[in-house]
Amino acid sequence: MRCNIGDGKTASFWFDWWTDLGPLITVFGNRGPRNLRIPIDSHVCAAALNGEWRLPAARSEEAETLQVVLSTMQPPSDSRGKDGFLWRSGQCSFKHKFSSKSTWNFIREPAPLISWSKLVWFKEHIPRCSFVCWMAMLNRLPTKDRLISWGMTVPPVCSLCSLNPESHDHLFFSCPYYVAVWTHFSGWMFSIPPVSLASVAHITEQAHIVSRSGAQSIIKLLIQVVIYNLWRERNHRIFRHTSSSEAAIISGVDRSMRDRLLSLPPPSQGSLSFSRSTFPSVLLLRLSFV
Ligand SMILES: [Zn+2]
Repeated sequence: MRCNIGDGKTASFWFDWWTDLGPLITVFGNRGPRNLRIPIDSHVCAAALNGEWRLPAARSEEAETLQVVLSTMQPPSDSRGKDGFLWRSGQCSFKHKFSSKSTWNFIREPAPLISWSKLVWFKEHIPRCSFVCWMAMLNRLPTKDRLISWGMTVPPVCSLCSLNPESHDHLFFSCPYYVAVWTHFSGWMFSIPPVSLASVAHITEQAHIVSRSGAQSIIKLLIQVVIYNLWRERNHRIFRHTSSSEAAIISGVDRSMRDRLLSLPPPSQGSLSFSRSTFPSVLLLRLSFV
């Protein structure tokens, strides 16, 4: 925060950030109040009299610097109203209104933008599905190949097909179980199941998808729901010793998609993904899941 000096009766002379030097106590140290003859609990108005700054003659480099800085600032005055506190929104910018976004962007250490971020996080997502999809993108789900690499003794074979070693790539993109589920939903949007999450991104960038607003979100939603249901089925087989058929998984995916799409608010002016003009195409896509 930074203080915008008005009458100088609220801002602390030593502790508030009211000059470009920052809190003066950090510049002068504990000896500052004695050197400048301004008590530690003083307000900024204590350093001015009759509309002029009033400080003792500078006897240190810090005091000289402060006097130079103050020479560029107006002394506090009742006519300037009360002191105001501003929120930092950037390196050199301050605003009256607090913005959590600006504050977060200022204090965090930015990382390069992840190319697939919008594949995982988007307005219409289902949080539990996004989370599992995010973990899958990072290769952080505890698949059997990872458990074995950690020294655990587990059977390496895929719980869904019992044919190949279980890994992220196999479970979500090459397992026959996965292929059967995806094939059911293949159609005009894509003819063959995507072989990686990157290829899902490629599908969403194709012209016939981009041209239909809402189609991208539906495909992204579909990949998330499929991954979530496959992962849940895999866990049920391991931990609950129950199994569902491919048809049951397809039915579950279909139901989740319907529920989410039908839960979206009616198309309205300004709706980001499902604008009024393209809603019929969304309806068409919904029907494609029948
Ligand atoms: Zn498999």
